[in-house]
Amino acid sequence: MRFSTRAIHAGQEPDLATGSVTTPVYFTSTFQQPGPGKEGKYVYSRTANPTRSALEECLASLEEGRFGLAFSSGLAATTTVLMLLRKGDHVIAGDDIYGGTYRLFEQVLRNYGLQFTFVDPQEPSNVEKAIRKNTRLIWIETPTNPLMHIVDIKKISRISRRAKALLVVDNTFMSPYLQNPLRHGADIVVHSTTKYIGGHSDLVGGATVTDDQKVQDRLKFLQNAVGAVPGPMDCFLVLRGLKTLAVRMERHNQNARIVSDFLAKSPKVERVLYPGFLDHPQKDVVKRQMRGSGGMLSFQLIGGFEKIKRFLKQLRVFTVAESLGGVESLIEHPASMTHASVPRERRLKLGISDNLIRVSVGIEDVEDLVADLERGFKQV
Ligand SMILES: *Cc1c(COP(=O)(O)O)cnc(C)c1O
Repeated sequence: MRFSTRAIHAGQEPDLATGSVTTPVYFTSTFQQPGPGKEGKYVYSRTANPTRSALEECLASLEEGRFGLAFSSGLAATTTVLMLLRKGDHVIAGDDIYGGTYRLFEQVLRNYGLQFTFVDPQEPSNVEKAIRKNTRLIWIETPTNPLMHIVDIKKISRISRRAKALLVVDNTFMSPYLQNPLRHGADIVVHSTTKYIGGHSDLVGGATVTDDQKVQDRLKFLQNAVGAVPGPMDCFLVLRGLKTLAVRMERHNQNARIVSDFLAKSPKVERVLYPGFLDHPQKDVVKRQMRGSGGMLSFQLIGGFEKIKRFLKQLRVFTVAESLGGVESLIEHPASMTHASVPRERRLKLGISDNLIRVSVGIEDVEDLVADLERGFKQV
């Protein structure tokens, strides 16, 4: 079956007990057992809950993997994946990854004896050179946040195979509608379902998908042992969001293309970072692994922080906020918001300049989005 059909039906057969067409929200912590020492299908909701199982099955299907697991946030999924490792293991990660992931690696997991090296994976040989005897995991995002760099999943997966390390791809920016990393050699896909998958900025959640039975068995053990699981209501909301993922992503694609063209022509804009431009330096990789360029873009406004503040203040349709992937358009200033925890020197080295603005283009009428940006530009 094709994508939208799976989004609406996978894991969501009508309820056996009542015939309910919509997956019921099983608000229960525990389940009656057939007898002492005998377990039914469900025992305790940290271990498994039917609403969560439906979501996990649907997510696996959409990522074209065999196994899915749902978590209480994207970072809960990330933390649980990193718990596959042991003290002394080495991780190679992209240098332009989600700020919270960087903070988790550097400020939390380093204290537990894990080692991290950050490299620019746009050039796969940088990853290859960073491999050590104890490298067990490679962590990439593509496109990256907020610079929209593209990483070649297939090339990195060849390196991870040779090193016998797991390749994990954070696929949050693309959603399973636009990119399926397992198909290009990734071992585990991670999502913040808070973003496009949920799609309505009304929940926080995370997920993993893998094809590897051994990895899944260990992740499932960790999901229960660590306990960072979502409640049934959040699982229901993610399932509801998933049903419209395909139509939403089509509109995100379309709107972001028009907004990026508008920005590229504006005399107030120094540079637009958008993976959909035909002259993108990695257009071949884009074509191979992505089915659309998504709703995210960044641009550099000519001028300093004062100008940026004035510009953002004028906007009426775009909301100044962190996060992304919802139906509504959001705009933010990475240097003072999402990436404020990255030291300025490191930010500048990476290319996150003080005049960079990140946009999550929503699914409103694009004419209103363009008019809103025009209004803002008039003030700077
Ligand atoms: C938001 C985000 C995360 C973290 O997810 P939470 O649900 O906020 O914990 C991880 N990776 C990317 C790319 C994100 O955008």
